[in-house]
Amino acid sequence: VSAWANVPAGPPDPILGVTEKFKADQSPKKINLGVGAYRDGKGKPYVLPSVLKAEEILYKKMLDKEYLPITGLSDFTKAAAKLAYGENSKPLDENRLAITQSISGTGALRIGTAFLARFYPGAKAIYLPTPTWGNHIPIAKDSGLEVKQYKVKRYFDKETVGLDFEGMKADIKAAPEGSIILLHACAHNPTGIDPTEEQWKELSVLMKEKKHFSFFDMASPRFCAYQGFASGDIVKDAFAVRYFVEQGHQILLCQSFAKNLGLYGERVGAISFVCADKEEKARVDSQLKIIIRPLYSNPPIHGARLVHTILDTPELYKEWLVEVKGMADRIISMREKLYNKLVELKTPGEWGHIKSQIGMFSFTGLKPEQVDKLAEKSSIYLTRDGRISMAALNESNVEYFAESVSKAVK
Ligand code: PMP
Repeated sequence: VSAWANVPAGPPDPILGVTEKFKADQSPKKINLGVGAYRDGKGKPYVLPSVLKAEEILYKKMLDKEYLPITGLSDFTKAAAKLAYGENSKPLDENRLAITQSISGTGALRIGTAFLARFYPGAKAIYLPTPTWGNHIPIAKDSGLEVKQYKVKRYFDKETVGLDFEGMKADIKAAPEGSIILLHACAHNPTGIDPTEEQWKELSVLMKEKKHFSFFDMASPRFCAYQGFASGDIVKDAFAVRYFVEQGHQILLCQSFAKNLGLYGERVGAISFVCADKEEKARVDSQLKIIIRPLYSNPPIHGARLVHTILDTPELYKEWLVEVKGMADRIISMREKLYNKLVELKTPGEWGHIKSQIGMFSFTGLKPEQVDKLAEKSSIYLTRDGRISMAALNESNVEYFAESVSKAVK
């Protein structure tokens, strides 16, 4: 008998499975709305011009390909920390931020949950929002944490524009003192709905009262245009993180450079822990190394060099911000086109959330049966929770998508 005769077949990944079905479809009109990667106006993957320039700079340097230290490229982790925490952040100034490079956001989450499973002084359980990015659940479980859930939204509520803030607060209040609470720092995936700045302030007070631990996942940028972004002010995306740190929360932060720099396959990320002092930081650093060494020894070098080059070269940094705004503006224009077309077609239901949600994803409210119908009748693929990637829509397919949705819900 084969050694693997008793291995049961596992279910396909709910998100990556969508792409498999899409690939098998022969229709010229097919659309894959499952992917969480930006596409340009022609539906093609987008390599940022600032990234290409950084590639050129690095190529000319003819650098070697030696191993990085266990915690990665320190020029990169410094730049990543500055981007998230800001120039004048106390934990950075006081040299009490433990930070390590990670295999993108997923790897950051995996190291973070493994660290908590080993060292968190309270209950080894993590509260995730309902819904959340699907992979949060197995990542936390595989690291040995018990998974609990709290409400973050009830589907489209006209009054709150989606966020069930009262439900969220009630659940956070009900969790035992000192619980680990995962918070999406911005552009909540899959709903595209974030707390307002005032609501974040309330959450900070509540989390402090309950002595909860804030575990921030900052993997997806808002891809949302607002004043300041083009001028280099990323404060809005980082508001919650910076505010919580100012308020004295000892946060843990997972960062990814997949979406905001279009470096998906390079797997560049970071995880950082705000510590009480320099000496504590050194102890946390030492344990991070002990967790990482048997996992993958040390992280890949190229993506970290690219990110460092862009963040620390003023012209490239400025160029990058303009490119992010370009991606943001294209997504917003698709939100408007989709909304207008759905309304024009008198599609039953309320669609305002398509415009008010932020980031790459939109939670449409389509039911699983309607999602199935879209696949069967129109060759349009998305996850059964009704989440669509706005970035997959463009001038040539947005109308077809709206017409198909309209038919599927009528
Ligand atoms: N967290 C969230 C909330 C995400 O949406 C994603 C990617 N979709 C990730 C983490 C991890 O992404 P990556 O490992 O590609 O950086």
